[in-house]
Amino acid sequence: MLTVDNLSVYYGAIRALHQVSCRVDQGEIVALIGANGAGKTTILTTISGIVSSSTGSIAFEGEDITRMPAHQIVTKGISQVPEGRRVFARMSVQENLEMGGFILSNKQEIKQGIERAFTLFPRLAERRKQAARTLSGGEQQMLAMGRALMSNPRLLLLDEPSMGLAPMLVEKIFEIIVEINKTGTTIMLVEQNASMALSIAHRAYVLETGEVVLSGSASDLASNPEVRKAYLGE
Ligand code: ATP
Repeated sequence: MLTVDNLSVYYGAIRALHQVSCRVDQGEIVALIGANGAGKTTILTTISGIVSSSTGSIAFEGEDITRMPAHQIVTKGISQVPEGRRVFARMSVQENLEMGGFILSNKQEIKQGIERAFTLFPRLAERRKQAARTLSGGEQQMLAMGRALMSNPRLLLLDEPSMGLAPMLVEKIFEIIVEINKTGTTIMLVEQNASMALSIAHRAYVLETGEVVLSGSASDLASNPEVRKAYLGE
């Protein structure tokens, strides 16, 4: 479904990614794990067209999307939940969801999308008129996910969904990620919480200083001694 080939990305003189190749197959949850600054977020933002690569290519469903502008990539079926949620703080829950549906052409589709988000996240329905800034961290994460789902993506890019959340909420968010995946949305997941990520992913890539150093099935990586020592706290 998604093929990233030999991607290199620079921020000025800083090399964030060096010849990264990875793929996501239809129906999978693929996790990207690695330490702070390893380049995980940069992979997602380059796929979604927010950051430009200096070399390499990205193909989605057979089409080259490497130089496509971000808004067009959304119309192709890729949507991102950014690190730190980035909800529109002064807008209501409902207005945030409407913003996520910016590519939808008619009101009926937007209404259906909002209803779907409320079914998936009943908490958001209860708070539909509240300003997003008044929501808890977990609720904001739900809102950011609901907003990204409004465009009916076939590939959802999730950046650090567990960040700053209490353990019980982390479990809840991960249950919902699995549910979203089971209803047919393919997922690429960036996580500091490697053990949670590997517990739901099918496959994973390990990044170190901008390079893929290991990849494989999530269960193989979870039992790999190097991974256990470096990322699973052993
Ligand atoms: P984190 O979990 O901290 O977000 P990450 O694995 O997602 O880490 P990136 O955010 O992709 O890593 O960062 C990769 C490298 O690029 C790091 O060295 C980081 O300092 C640098 N970097 C990221 N964004 C920028 C930017 N806007 N300007 C300059 N350097 C940046």
